[in-house]
Amino acid sequence: MARRKKIYEGKAKILYEGPEPGTIVQYFKDDATAFNAEKKAVIEGKGVLNNRLSEFFMTGLQGVGIPTHFIRRLNMREQLCRQVEIIPLEVIVRNYAAGSMAKRLGMEEGRQLPRPIVEFSYKNDALGDPLVPEEYIAAFGWASQQDMDDIVAIALRVNDFMSGVMHGVGIKLIDFKIELGRVWDNDFMRLVVADEISPDSCRLWDIETGQKLDKDVFRQDLGNLTDAYTEVARRLGVLPSNVTHAHKPTLIN
Ligand code: UDP
Repeated sequence: MARRKKIYEGKAKILYEGPEPGTIVQYFKDDATAFNAEKKAVIEGKGVLNNRLSEFFMTGLQGVGIPTHFIRRLNMREQLCRQVEIIPLEVIVRNYAAGSMAKRLGMEEGRQLPRPIVEFSYKNDALGDPLVPEEYIAAFGWASQQDMDDIVAIALRVNDFMSGVMHGVGIKLIDFKIELGRVWDNDFMRLVVADEISPDSCRLWDIETGQKLDKDVFRQDLGNLTDAYTEVARRLGVLPSNVTHAHKPTLIN
C-alpha cells in the first residue's frame, strides 16, 4: 500500500494528505505537552478519546449550523477533514477566570466573568503564542475586520453550544481555545471551525466538586489524565459507561 504523505506534525496530532484533493486526515497522538512543550509525556489512550470527543463536538456544532472542517471519523485515531487555510490565531473564550488570565490580572481562579470574553493569541510556538490586540491582527493582515467580526460571532456561538452541552452533564466550561480556517467554494470564502475541540483545549470543572477534567490534570499533576477525559466522554455518552481506558496488553508467560 502506498504510504500517505505527511503534511505536518504538531504536538498532539499529525496531518496527512487526504484521499481526495481538498481533504486531510487528522491523526490524534497520545502525546501531551504543556507550558509550550517544556513538559511532555505520552498518555496512553488520550488520542483515541480526543478523536471521539472532537468528533462529538464538531458534529454537534454542525447540527446547530456552525460550519466546521470535520467530515467523518475514519477509525480510532483518525478523522477526515476539509483542508483549510488556518488563520494564525488561537481564539480563546473565557467564562470564568483561570490560567493565564487569572495570573495576568491577579484574579482568583473560578471567578465568573461579567460576560464571556473573547481574546486572541498569535499562533507562534517560538514566541509562546503571545496575546495580541485586534489592532495587530488587522494591521499585520492575519485576518480582515470582516473576518474578525465573523470569528467573534462564531466563537460566541461555539461557547453557547459547548457551555450548554457541558452544563447538561454537570460540567462547567471555564474557557476554551478554537482555531478557524478558511475554505473556498469557487470564489466564495467561508470561515469554519478547524483543528480540534477536546479536553486538551478546554477547561472543564465538575459543577458539584470543582474537580478538573481537562489538561490541567496533566499541567498540575492532579492525577490520571486518561481517567479525566474518559469521565468527560462517559458523561457525554460518547463511551458506554462501563468502558475504562485500555491498558497495555500483559505478556503471559
Ligand atoms: N489553550 C490551548 N492551547 C494553547 C493555549 C491555551 O488549547 O496553546 C486553551 C487552554 O487549555 C485553556 C484556554 O485555551 O482552556 C485558555 O488558556 P490560557 O490562556 O489560560 O493559557 P494557559 O493557562 O493554558 O497557558
